[in-house]
Amino acid sequence: MPISLIKTEAICLNVRPFSKTSHMVTWLTRSDGCLTTPVKGAQRPKSAFLGKYDIGYTCELIFYARGRNGVHHIRECSPLHFREALRFKWHRACAAGYACDLTLRTAHGEQANEALYITLSTLLETLQHCERHEAALALLWYECTLLHLLGVAPDFTPCPHCPASDFLTFSMEEGRAFCEHRPSRLHRPPAMSLHADMRALFATFIQTPLPEILQTARETGRTDDLGRPEPFSGMFGLRRFLGVFMTEHLDLLPGARRTILDILIGG
Ligand SMILES: [Zn+2]
Repeated sequence: MPISLIKTEAICLNVRPFSKTSHMVTWLTRSDGCLTTPVKGAQRPKSAFLGKYDIGYTCELIFYARGRNGVHHIRECSPLHFREALRFKWHRACAAGYACDLTLRTAHGEQANEALYITLSTLLETLQHCERHEAALALLWYECTLLHLLGVAPDFTPCPHCPASDFLTFSMEEGRAFCEHRPSRLHRPPAMSLHADMRALFATFIQTPLPEILQTARETGRTDDLGRPEPFSGMFGLRRFLGVFMTEHLDLLPGARRTILDILIGG
């Protein structure tokens, strides 16, 4: 049986040690979703793969399409974008690391999702020029867009029979709004009351390119009570909501997210 080779662009999401000198490298590819390639002898001094990949790099990847369970043999890898500016500032490196890890944990499988690939590329490119609070905003944008592109976004559709209100009662477990007309299947659903500003901001994020969001943020110059930049109304609520929602729906541990946000925004 002929073994076909696939050539694609891929973003390196994770590098794990494997045996004494090898790596397991996980990629988000443009054409084949998420996959892992063992790189044998990657850490030997004469390895052809030395310095060719690291978290946040975009590479041209050539692999044999005969793997199982998302693990394929790599043939070649050439870096296309090193994104060195991510490594000069620790807050950018942390933000890029978090985004790659979040993608790894949520975008399972080899189903192509080119929109997600382009979104993560945009984020990594943009993070290279971000100040700390801008990196926090960029991550919030990425989280919203990721949920949307993976088809697991919260459903904020209000009930047409209820009078319009600034607040929406949202069932965290069911991922949707509920009321007397659309009761919850649960007896006592854990609920959050969500303000219209927060929901509008989510909608804005998934419809607007990141550079435009950052441009608007620079122009508003709005701050919160503690004087920290908070360019959009509803940002605090959205940040808090996404933390709970992603923990509930994506089986994520909240610790890493809390840490990165503490680093970027301040405790
Ligand atoms: Zn209703």
